[in-house]
Amino acid sequence: MPSPERGTILLGYDVESASDSTRGFLQGARQLHQKYDVPWTIYLTGQTLTARVEDVREVIADPLLTVGQHTYNHVLLKSIYMQPGDGQPVHGRSPNFFHQGGTLEQVREEIDSTQTLIEDLLQIECQGLTGPWGYYRGLVDRPDILQILADNSIQWIRTNARDYRDCQPTPFSEQPFFYTDQGFEDILELGVQGYQDDFYWDRFDDRQYGETYQDYLFAMLERVAAEDLVWNVCSHDHGTVDTETFFQTKGQWIEELIVQAMDLGIRFASPPQVYAEMKAAVRPSGGGHPLKEKQ
Ligand SMILES: [Zn+2]
Repeated sequence: MPSPERGTILLGYDVESASDSTRGFLQGARQLHQKYDVPWTIYLTGQTLTARVEDVREVIADPLLTVGQHTYNHVLLKSIYMQPGDGQPVHGRSPNFFHQGGTLEQVREEIDSTQTLIEDLLQIECQGLTGPWGYYRGLVDRPDILQILADNSIQWIRTNARDYRDCQPTPFSEQPFFYTDQGFEDILELGVQGYQDDFYWDRFDDRQYGETYQDYLFAMLERVAAEDLVWNVCSHDHGTVDTETFFQTKGQWIEELIVQAMDLGIRFASPPQVYAEMKAAVRPSGGGHPLKEKQ
């Protein structure tokens, strides 16, 4: 008998490779999520949707699927400056790595055009976004970018996805919040807790939980259940050229994660579901930070 439901997991994938891996990932992920009746979200770049629209259309009717966007060209909303401080190279550079963000005009164009594309090609009014690469503290310091999101009816985002070094893992203390203090009480930051994917675990993890990514994932599941946390899990359509390859790589750990989470009584939710729940929780007292208002 699983214990009562505690903890929430969202599964969301950047679909950005504009290659055969897009098809392999989408086919594999649909099969996996239908097998366990677990919701999933894809964050599409405009480039990928343009190049692989038929692959996306093949899975779009899945009622478990929600669609978000990931900009048109994968332009960073903010610059990142990674300082791992461990003497090891990062993205081929050492000791630090800088990647410049887009200008505000570029960011607007990237987001506007992808909203239009998703509406034109998929007939969906997209309400979600993942910020390319993710940033320390998300968009708490960028009301100008939040305004662009608001202008595009974006309601739930994943941009809080790095630690204080602009590296990973993002601490699990980073839980979903509305950008109320910035004046955008209708935009929910979901974050990406932990690592953005297996390859980031491989680079950054100190192996304190074991020698495999699954060791880390299972340890975090215990914590999510014990502390009733939200975990927004991320992966990518990288190296998944067909369904078989998907189930040998990403699909393998995603499936093990799903099974283990179910054993622990953790529930699965979609971003719109978490958004509706958190909105309902703040509304009676007239807005503000949900955690503060619980006191
Ligand atoms: Zn990405």
